[in-house]
Amino acid sequence: MSETKIQKDKKRLLTSFKRSEEFPKLVLDAFKVVKREHFVVDKYKKYAYADTPLPLFEGATISAPSMSLLLCKYAKLKPGDKVLEIGTGSGYQAALMAYIVTREERNGKIFSIEINKQLYEYAKEKLQLTPYSEDILLAQGDGTKGWPEGGTFSKIVVTATGSEAPSPLLDQLEEGGILLIPLKKGAYEEWLVRMAKTPAGMEQETLDAVRFVPLKGKFGKKSW
Ligand code: SAH
Repeated sequence: MSETKIQKDKKRLLTSFKRSEEFPKLVLDAFKVVKREHFVVDKYKKYAYADTPLPLFEGATISAPSMSLLLCKYAKLKPGDKVLEIGTGSGYQAALMAYIVTREERNGKIFSIEINKQLYEYAKEKLQLTPYSEDILLAQGDGTKGWPEGGTFSKIVVTATGSEAPSPLLDQLEEGGILLIPLKKGAYEEWLVRMAKTPAGMEQETLDAVRFVPLKGKFGKKSW
């Protein structure tokens, strides 16, 4: 797979994203700048710009590009945001988000937790080779407990499916903040849910039907 074929595929996908008018400019800019092919495992590099999820290893998947962009959009990411991501996986989502939160010389930060040691090492290695290594803090462990030493976050993005929003994450969300999480409903359905912390309490909105890998850990999925 030559570089030029990858570049052509990327251009084509970018054009279709632009045409759909679904994504804000900053999200499209992040897609343009961050190299998804860098985060995909070698075997699947040639599909880096097919709009589909791809297997990583250890049962994890890198989400489809359109899903990665949707998470940025639904989280209403903006320059200066302090974001907690649960489920680093390849590190691609973290890199997209780092691009957005560090625009306009606002030094936003991404904190990202991965439960699987091998994936944590993989993402660390990949992210070190990007311009965002200083803007992204990685940790290995159970992300459902959050990152208590990190203070509170303006955005929390969970990229694995749970049964309910883990209570430590709700505690670590600042007022006015947004938490995105895919939640299982019934036996088969999964929905992306957006929660907003307001002075009056938590507000909840159901967005799209989605499919992510199960959220492990103490406050992760109950049996289903
Ligand atoms: N955002 C990733 C894709 C994530 S796939 C990307 O852009 O590539 C979901 C990831 O969540 C998997 O890597 C899985 O190991 C991880 N995960 C599952 N439960 C977790 C938990 N409790 N804490 C941290 N990571 C978890």
